[in-house]
Amino acid sequence: MYSRPGRLCLVLLVVLMAALPRAGSKEQPPPAPAKPKLVVLVVFDQFRGDYPQRWKDLYGEGGFQRLMKEGTWFSNCHYPYGITVTGAGHATLATGCEPYRHGIIENEWYDRETRALVYCAKMPQHRKVGAPPVKEPESKGENKITGYGSPERLLVPTLADAWKDKFADKAKVVSLSLKDRGCVFTGGRKPDACYWFDDKTGAFVTSTYYAGHVAPWVVEFNAPKPADAWFGKDWTRFRSDLDYQKCSGPDDQIGESNVEKLGRVFPHPLTGGLEKPGAKYYTALYTTPFANDLLLQFVKKAIVAEQLGQHEAPDLLCVSFSATDSVGHCWGPDSQEVLDTALRADAVLAEFLRYLDEKVGKGQYLLALSADHGVCPLPEISQQKGLPAVRMQPTELQKRAEEFLQEKFGPMSRGKYILEVSWPMIYLNHRALADRGLASEVEIALVGWLKQQKGILKAYTHHQLAARLPGGDGLGAALQKSFHPERSGDILILLQQYSYCSKYLTGTGHGTPHPYDTHVPLMVFGTGVKAEGQRQDRITPLAVPKILGYAVGVELPHATVEVPSGLFVPVAP
Ligand SMILES: [Zn+2]
Repeated sequence: MYSRPGRLCLVLLVVLMAALPRAGSKEQPPPAPAKPKLVVLVVFDQFRGDYPQRWKDLYGEGGFQRLMKEGTWFSNCHYPYGITVTGAGHATLATGCEPYRHGIIENEWYDRETRALVYCAKMPQHRKVGAPPVKEPESKGENKITGYGSPERLLVPTLADAWKDKFADKAKVVSLSLKDRGCVFTGGRKPDACYWFDDKTGAFVTSTYYAGHVAPWVVEFNAPKPADAWFGKDWTRFRSDLDYQKCSGPDDQIGESNVEKLGRVFPHPLTGGLEKPGAKYYTALYTTPFANDLLLQFVKKAIVAEQLGQHEAPDLLCVSFSATDSVGHCWGPDSQEVLDTALRADAVLAEFLRYLDEKVGKGQYLLALSADHGVCPLPEISQQKGLPAVRMQPTELQKRAEEFLQEKFGPMSRGKYILEVSWPMIYLNHRALADRGLASEVEIALVGWLKQQKGILKAYTHHQLAARLPGGDGLGAALQKSFHPERSGDILILLQQYSYCSKYLTGTGHGTPHPYDTHVPLMVFGTGVKAEGQRQDRITPLAVPKILGYAVGVELPHATVEVPSGLFVPVAP
């Protein structure tokens, strides 16, 4: 029996259902959101998902706070896959699917066909355009990556590709960043402009994949050498009124790096140790928040020169600010430098929004802001907190793993058991193993050995990841989403939480399925977006291109997630 209020509800439900379209009748499609003139994807590289909340009260009103209040802020957004690096993150934001489908499993991997390490955003046949090549010092024994920027290693189309397919010359696609892998994937296969910062010359460049020469506005921008403006200056704290120690931590912390003579503490001198601007200075600049300021200047120039927001169909602008990443790698997420860079990122964002208001119009553009990955604390800081964090180096691990295999299976007459370690993947020497009649027993033995090493939680064979993993192995399932049978190694290593592996003995990074690496912000703002404020429902950045495409009717066939319900204010057709 229904109670009296229950019966009333039932009556109301029946009335409501009668008002709904009947099954089989012609259903009305849901009303489309209002159309923006310009759609903007903003990525802050390595801007971890807790940074907006952590320093919420320190941000100004026009930047992150504006997006949080006037838009929708998804504070529980995580990448669903295991190898959380820049190439993979940007390719995911570009395609709406995971690395096992879009193919960008890592920044680099070993290509068995060409027997060389390959880089996700370069192809060997392309060359730099827009600045003279600079001869780099020969690195002995290292597998050298050749070529220049290109999205050709992507295995599926991007939002930008679908954009150009739908609108052709009626809309422009522009993708800009400080690093190539920050813009080549989001720009897709046929952008109208795709440029990044060349830290050898300080110029914004492109590659022969896109064009034989840079656009006149890029020549004009590069001519007065705007990157040189910070030469000889110091990077000091953005907010002299703020107690940085209280808001982040001590200035000098064990484990911090010293990149190009920037030093570990404020003020950071910006010369790269040079008398006049050169490659070391540009690398130093790239490791300060001023590189984001430089990119914003370039973005403003692009908005005007490419007349973004003024075409027959909506334009697409993708911008990835990379300095948050280089600073985070150098000093770690709990440093005063990362706090300072976050505050300056907020100012960059505020100025970017103000400029879009002026040039495109308030409410006339749709913007999504996210990051490509988070970051692990400096292992030494975790150790001080009593956490079992280990700092390790891939070359050292490779040496010991090789010794273990030689001891167990006998010395090799030629070559080694391990062909290449492209962290966190190990590629075995298949030919030599076959010569000796060895196969999966080597993988299994190596996995067993790896699991006993400090800092390593688990290791998986190619075979395991290509098949179904036992239920309950969430981290393994995440690694599977970063696994591609032809590109991935024979063994994938999963680090323990707070442990970090890189060729450097200082600094930190990312690349695991642990929450500090997967957690990123996602803020959506502008045309048709509800001013919903913070939403805590779990979401992945795979939704980003889907949201941006939906707003202008661009279909994304490879996207595996839906537009979050209730994000847009419906508009009657
Ligand atoms: Zn990154």
